[in-house]
Amino acid sequence: MIEPGHNFLKIKETLPHLAGGRNIDLLTVSKTQSSDAIRCLATLGQRHFGENYVQEGCAKRAALNDLDLTWHLIGPLQSNKCREAAKCFDWVQSVDRLKLISLLAQAREDARPPLNILVQVNVGNEATKSGCAADQIENLAAHINAQPRLRLRGLMAIPTPWAEPERRREDFHRMHTLFEKLRCGYPDIDTLSMGMSDDYELAIAEGATMVRIGSAIFGTRAVRSSTPASGEST
Ligand SMILES: *Cc1c(COP(=O)(O)O)cnc(C)c1O
Repeated sequence: MIEPGHNFLKIKETLPHLAGGRNIDLLTVSKTQSSDAIRCLATLGQRHFGENYVQEGCAKRAALNDLDLTWHLIGPLQSNKCREAAKCFDWVQSVDRLKLISLLAQAREDARPPLNILVQVNVGNEATKSGCAADQIENLAAHINAQPRLRLRGLMAIPTPWAEPERRREDFHRMHTLFEKLRCGYPDIDTLSMGMSDDYELAIAEGATMVRIGSAIFGTRAVRSSTPASGEST
């Protein structure tokens, strides 16, 4: 039997130990999960939830707007979804090209706090993956920083799930170096988002400040939905 509440509390408790006392932000990845499952974790004190699809995230935010939750977009973003993304999310972790930056900035309402942005890096230089090349980080960061409606918070990566832990460790280590390098120019950035259910221990050991965990809390996802889960359409 899958017990998300139990899994969540257990993982939450181990994070500070893994990090040697350093604070680690736990992002619970709620894609394909019901609003009820999210509500359950919220009653246990969880605030940060991650979604892959703009439409699914917007529907859940609306269904749960009696709760004070923080929504993170972690899936690839298309330019025609930027307007909606800037409305429904508090963070966008998947910014990897210039075009998205101006569109998100234009769409973010003045009355709301700036939209938090992470630059997604394709750390393994995989041809099929989203994320920018390492040598584009500085340029993207400068453009984000120049937009008052956006707030640069750091970097995000989804490294190749190598079978060998040593190769995963190398990618996490590389990301940490890129993060520290960026922080020399932007001392206020505070977030290095990397590590998922299979490898968050390793990511924390290599300097992650935020881990994104789905299946280790909610159980394995049966299907990868491309539309909002049924019952999420309000
Ligand atoms: C689905 C997803 C996760 C969570 O993956 P799990 O292996 O279920 O923990 C984290 N980050 C991103 C970008 C994802 O798409």
